[in-house]
Formats: sequence, C-alpha cells, structure tokens
Amino acid sequence: MSQKTRQIDRGVALDLAELTPGEMETLAADLGAERFHGRQVFRWLHRRGIADPGQMTDLPRTLRARLAATVTVRTPQIVSDLRAADGTRKFLLGLADGARIESVFIPDTPALTFCISTQVGCAMACSFCLTGRMGLVRNLTAGEIAGQVRVLAGATGLLERPFNIVLMGMGEPLHNYDETMKALAIIHADDGLAVSPRRITLSTVGIVPGLDRLATEPLMPNLAVSLHATTDEQRSRLVPPNRKYPLADVLDACRRFPLKRRSRITFEYVLLDQVNDTPDDARRLVRLLNGLKAKVNLIPLNPAPGIPYDRPSDARVNRFAQILAERHVHVSVRKSRGLDIRAACGQLIVDGGPRRSSGQQAAVLMR
Ligand code: SAH
Repeated sequence: MSQKTRQIDRGVALDLAELTPGEMETLAADLGAERFHGRQVFRWLHRRGIADPGQMTDLPRTLRARLAATVTVRTPQIVSDLRAADGTRKFLLGLADGARIESVFIPDTPALTFCISTQVGCAMACSFCLTGRMGLVRNLTAGEIAGQVRVLAGATGLLERPFNIVLMGMGEPLHNYDETMKALAIIHADDGLAVSPRRITLSTVGIVPGLDRLATEPLMPNLAVSLHATTDEQRSRLVPPNRKYPLADVLDACRRFPLKRRSRITFEYVLLDQVNDTPDDARRLVRLLNGLKAKVNLIPLNPAPGIPYDRPSDARVNRFAQILAERHVHVSVRKSRGLDIRAACGQLIVDGGPRRSSGQQAAVLMR
C-alpha cells in the first residue's frame, strides 16, 4: 500500500508539500494518471508556488479533480513579517495545528540567507538557549521544513535567485533526521527550487550516530558543529547531549566525516562572558581542532531574559579570536543581525503553538 493510500485510510489528508518528486510520481499513478504528471505537480508547487490543483493547468482534468478531492497542501502561513534596520526580516509562521515557528531572512551580500527551523522547541536543553528551556513540542514535517524556504523565497522575491539556507533555527536537525533529510531532498530537487547542497548548512550539537549517518548521505550539506566548550566537564553543563556524546567522540566523528576538497567543518562557539572565553579556552580549542579541516565561528552571546550569562566585551571577543588566528585557525565572529527586532541568535520568542500550558513560550534561535 502506498503512503497516500495509508494516509487517506487514516482519514488524514495527505500533505502534497511533504512528497519528494518520486513520491509525487507514485501519487499520480495511484490516482490513475501517468507518473510524469507527478513531476508537473511538484513543479507547480515548489517552483511556482501554486498549491491549488485547480490552477495546475497542464494536468489532465481528472487528475486535477482527484488531487483536489484527496490531498491538501499545508503551507506555513505568515503571521507577521518584521523588518530590522539592517534589512534582516523575521517571519512568524503559523502551522496547520496552530504551532508557530520563526524563520529569518538575512540579506548579507553577496549571500542571501534563510535561517529555518527543524522542530517546534528542542530537546537538547543547552543552558544559554531559550528554545532549550521549553523542551520539544514536536518535530516539523519535511513539508513544513521545506515550506519555510518556499514561503520565505516567495515573500522576499527570491524564487528565481540563488540563496543560502542554514538549519540554525529552532530545533536539532539530527534529532529529526528523516524529515530533515527529506526536506533537503525536496529543496534540492531539479523540478523545485534546485538549491545546491553547497548552499545549505546543517548545524548540530553533535549527535554522533546522526553525524555518522549524515556522512553516508548522497545529498550532503555543509556541516556546522556547536562546540561551545573545550572540556567535557564544561561542555556537559552548557550542552547536555555531551554527557552521551563527549567531545572526543564528536571530534572523532568530525575527523571521519567526508569533506569535499577545499571545504571545512564550521565549529560554532558561543562566547559567554568569563565562562568559556578565556585565553586558556582559546588555546585548548586550538589543540582540540588540531588535524581537523576546521573553521571557527565565534558567536558572542545574544543575551535573553532568563539566560544566566552575559555577552563578553568586544575586547574579550577579539582576544579570543586573535589567539586562534595567531595559531592559524580560520576564525570569524558572527555579526548579530536584526537586534532591533529581536531577530538575532537566541532572541526570538514565539508562542509554543498548541497550548499545553498557558503562557508556555518557545524561542527560535537563528544566526
Ligand atoms: N541545534 C542546532 C541548531 C540550532 S542553534 C545547534 O545546536 O547547532 C544555532 C546556533 O545558535 C547554535 O550554535 C547555538 O548554540 C547558537 N545559539 C543558541 N542560543 C544562542 C544565544 N543566546 N546567543 C548566541 N548564539 C546562540
């Protein structure tokens, strides 16, 4: 039995936006049409942004009618669209079940970047991260992950232009592995937005089995690993998954990760004043990364209410960066974007969606 039939049997309308091109072909066949019509449907939806089968004018009339009767398209709806002085735009998106997520458009030239979420909430509980405080509400579907890109590309007029995608919003992509990879397949498909994997960066706390699985994928995004500390003792406090996957194991997984020529793994390091930003930390970081094709992205903490750390001074940030650079580690300092609309990393707070308890809040983190 095909996925389509299963879902219809359960009384849940199938979400067209969740299907890969191959699955669309199977659906077309299930509905009594030629398989190639499935590709046309995929193109209408993902390349042209048309969700209503009635408007898919090159499909046979019977297929249009059957699609209209059996499927739905769950497109995230724009609830609000805030613009910062620096051009950053923060979108609050509503999902079909009432859950809400935020996605951000960062217009840095030359790279135009969408920062998107993979989960509502997050189970990782990093101590400087607001999303971590609410726990996991639910995984996003592949359709909802890819849908963020579709909606943002439409709203920013970029459907026809190249852009970058960072999976750095709410959630841990390797903790929602299958849906995340399926979303990447949808975003990458030639009949859709055709985004090259080179333009996609997946950011993870370092779930080792997920990293090893990612290493075998035909469609391999760039990899960013949230390191944030240089000893297991400290990292376990800041990034709790470290208790299960300690530093050495994460770095070993990075060492065996197949990298294309000239590419490097990005190690993100949130700088917390007087906590993990000392010269000793910087020197230990250099030693840890020895032998790895690495670049370090320092992220001075974006403070948020309830986060028990401070942002270090520029002098401390620069000193840390300088120690890395002097020892020939590639290093950059992430700029805070959209501060005036609270769109910088760790500053986004949205309703958690289907209300479990009133006042429960979710935060979306982005670049
Ligand atoms: N779960 C993934 C992706 C989401 S977070 C991960 O952990 O990598 C994207 C980046 O923003 C991570 O490096 C995260 O540590 C960082 N971040 C979280 N809270 C932050 C804050 N308050 N200030 C600055 N960066 C933060």
